[in-house]
Amino acid sequence: MKDLYNQDYMVTGICADGYARVIGASTRNLTQKMLDIHNTSPVASAALGRLLTGAVLMSNQLKNDTDSITLQVKCQGPIGGLIAVSDAHGNVRGYCQNPHVDLPLRASDGKLDVSGAVGVGVLNVMKDLGMKEPYNGTVELLSGEIAEDLSYYLISSEQVPSVVALGVLVMPSETAACGYEIAAAGGYMIQLMPGAPESLIDALEQRVAGFLPVTVMLNAGATITEVCEDLLRGLDFQVQQEVPCGYNCNCSKERMEKALISIGKTELQAIADEDHGAEIVCHFCNTRYRFSEEELRKMLE
Ligand SMILES: [Zn+2]
Repeated sequence: MKDLYNQDYMVTGICADGYARVIGASTRNLTQKMLDIHNTSPVASAALGRLLTGAVLMSNQLKNDTDSITLQVKCQGPIGGLIAVSDAHGNVRGYCQNPHVDLPLRASDGKLDVSGAVGVGVLNVMKDLGMKEPYNGTVELLSGEIAEDLSYYLISSEQVPSVVALGVLVMPSETAACGYEIAAAGGYMIQLMPGAPESLIDALEQRVAGFLPVTVMLNAGATITEVCEDLLRGLDFQVQQEVPCGYNCNCSKERMEKALISIGKTELQAIADEDHGAEIVCHFCNTRYRFSEEELRKMLE
């Protein structure tokens, strides 16, 4: 599994005479890496895996090396909040407050209860496109199932009619220490282009509603490109690009040093005097960074 970590990819294309943009992503391996880093429970794996996949799909609009998109779910459910950050190169990272949240399967359909773990709250989208101020938009969660919330954000905050589908399939595993693994994960987003007939979004929504869940197809061996081809059969789907995506953190000792400096001189002085050193753990990848007393004193100068 480990060497497959970076074998996920994103496909982009157009359909319906160029009136709709299509972005799909297969994210099983990056979601598995998330599980391995954070030891997420099955329901937390589904929730955070969906948010990571959504961040990957949204990253399609980024162009510059320093651009990023942050999807943050602030919520009152037992998962306590989630965050996912993606960049222009298909890298994504994230974490949730309570990765061990455990809920019974939903009685109505026997599925992982993502909306139960998330509860009521808001979705905040921050886009850093290298402008003076990052773009910020917030919507209330519609369902807490993530995909619906993201499409609601896109129509209400960005005025782009969109259909979003996200899925994470967690299956029992005999080899994994935790007893389960990510069998499939992925999603797609179809967005109307300016000037598209309004009826098109209804037609697309109906098609998605009557289509197999994305993880069922991926788990059966289809690629995300094939999923999109199948979904959009008869709508002139044309693939434009396929690019890799993966779970990769951008932390470094230099970044952590900046974070330490930002806490202020008095605090830093106290850490040097009392603890004689510091250890910072990256929330996104759990890498530990150690700073000796000497290094702290150098920062103070
Ligand atoms: Zn990190």
